[in-house]
Amino acid sequence: RGAVSPEAGADERQVEGALRPRSLDDFVGQERVRDQLSLVLDSARKRNRAPDHILMSGGPGLGKTTLAMIIAAELGAPLRITSGPAIERSGDLAAVLSTLQEGEVLFLDEIHRMARPAEEMLYVAMEDFRVDVVVGKGPGATAIPLDIAPFTLVGATTRAGMLPAPLRDRFGFTAHMDFYTAEELERILHRSAGLLGVPLAEDAAREIAGRSRGTPRIANRLLRRVRDYAEVRGDGIMSLDTARATLELYEVDELGLDRLDRAILDVLLNRFRGGPVGLSTLAVSVGEEAETVEVVAEPFLVRSGFLARTPRGRVATPLAWAHLGITPPPDAAF
Ligand code: ADP
Repeated sequence: RGAVSPEAGADERQVEGALRPRSLDDFVGQERVRDQLSLVLDSARKRNRAPDHILMSGGPGLGKTTLAMIIAAELGAPLRITSGPAIERSGDLAAVLSTLQEGEVLFLDEIHRMARPAEEMLYVAMEDFRVDVVVGKGPGATAIPLDIAPFTLVGATTRAGMLPAPLRDRFGFTAHMDFYTAEELERILHRSAGLLGVPLAEDAAREIAGRSRGTPRIANRLLRRVRDYAEVRGDGIMSLDTARATLELYEVDELGLDRLDRAILDVLLNRFRGGPVGLSTLAVSVGEEAETVEVVAEPFLVRSGFLARTPRGRVATPLAWAHLGITPPPDAAF
């Protein structure tokens, strides 16, 4: 990862948790998702029943975990958090499902990475609130049906398209989380600065918001670095100058591209003459997992008009050549 995305330490994670909005009213942006959710939650409360299962799709740091916590809080229900990669066998899932309390919200992050056999167990649990526990092996194995408490599954995925249709169909609706506007990010930054107790100038907030790749987690992380700078090298106020100096120190450019983004564009332009180049080749060339390139970097590069996904591979746009200040070769794609 680039310098702006160091693995957060324990304290940093606590701070991230402290900045999380706790209610739907505090949750900035994503109007449609908020509206959809509040209808489902109000109706569930009115009928005094667990709401339908909810799928959330969208990139990392857009607020999926935060929303799952809000859903549980608004329902006054306990919350259990697990993730697809933690469920390697159906037994792992059975252990979670069979210990859920009535009405509990189960947040399953990265649901598309769950083991296949567990998926089928989840279908039955979602629909009939039952798990079939298999006892024994081979021809003598028997499935013992076990009733479980009615619960609400909140699944999150960075790629809704990767979910098998039978799983997708068992959710009441899919909340599509999109990038945030600069104005929404500014609101989030002001709220966070208030919680951190460090003054943030209007123009500084605008500067940070514009370089946060439409992502609240990145905005909050940059804000914490600006706070460090203000407290250690400045006068304790997050001013425009402090913000600019910090962003330069952490190699976040005017458009918010970080080191990984720029590495991808650099390889694409300088080694592959602007493409087209396949995702895995591109990932190997920048020393990253294909999934990281696809999920973390590409959506923003595509959205900002630097990169296009074509059937033959990834292609740099004229904007990318211009941004890196390189003249494209005459035979460049595009
Ligand atoms: P995800 O689960 O999608 O990766 P998170 O829910 O963990 O993202 O959000 C990352 C951080 O961004 C949280 O700590 C939270 O403070 C902040 N955040 C996300 N969405 C919002 C929002 N709509 N309003 C305010 N803060 C938000």
